Amino acid sequence: MKILILACVSILTLNISAISQDWDNIKITPIKVHDNLYMMTGEGGNIGVSIGEDGIFLIDDQYAPLTEKILAAIGTLSKDAIKFAFNTHYHGDHTGGNENLGKQGVDFVAHDNVYKRLNEGGSAKEALPIISFNDQLTFHLNGLHINTRHYRNAHTDGDSIVYFNGKNTIHMGDIFFNGSYPYVDVEGGGSWKGLIVAVQSTLNNIDDNTKVIPGHGSLTDKEGLKIYYNVLKDIEGILTPLALSGLSLNDVKKLKPLEKYDGDYGKGFMDPNSFISIVYEDIYRNINQ
Ligand SMILES: [Zn+2]
Repeated sequence: MKILILACVSILTLNISAISQDWDNIKITPIKVHDNLYMMTGEGGNIGVSIGEDGIFLIDDQYAPLTEKILAAIGTLSKDAIKFAFNTHYHGDHTGGNENLGKQGVDFVAHDNVYKRLNEGGSAKEALPIISFNDQLTFHLNGLHINTRHYRNAHTDGDSIVYFNGKNTIHMGDIFFNGSYPYVDVEGGGSWKGLIVAVQSTLNNIDDNTKVIPGHGSLTDKEGLKIYYNVLKDIEGILTPLALSGLSLNDVKKLKPLEKYDGDYGKGFMDPNSFISIVYEDIYRNINQ
């Protein structure tokens, strides 16, 4: 298991260093979700931006070398200052800009475990949330009630989904990888089971008109989230019997049980081999603990 984790960590590190050469070519693109509400893509997790009379509410900030570009893109939407910034979880492709923004006086808010992991991970003081919460928090800003809800042990142990009540829009952070295999950060307190619970419970909270911003992938709706949920459930249904019969990870890999999804879903952050390794080991551990 240790070797597996190390292999995964080095894969992730490679991905990040491979793209770090290329910051100059990355464009930050705002996509309108509703009046005064935007999703922005660039490199790393999707950003959420609410603008309005009270100032900017920002969700996640990708990587540090992109901060200037992100601020320039926000500047095309509004000249107001960032009032609050929120982190959906601790990963560097969502919090990498925290320190730059914190030094400019932006106040960060996130779940308690995001604070804990950033702090213990040696992040600068300016990169840390100054407000953290353990369950839910609501921002009353820009005529909206922006409700952030924590989901336990899903992608990590500090995930939040942000509900823009008044705009019928949610930002799901990395609980939702739209169109690709999700990463479950088991070392960071995530779990396959918790990921599915979070998606299922979100589906119960939204309606057919809800706009859904994923952590990665394109803007979608309840239908798009349902497709993702069905894929997760199908994968669970395929892998659970194999784990129950006690097959080793290597034997399972030889069976190529997820081959039908690998072509479409294995092109994102998680390649097919890393994905099945993490998920199978987690399901196996759950069954045999
Ligand atoms: Zn993440």
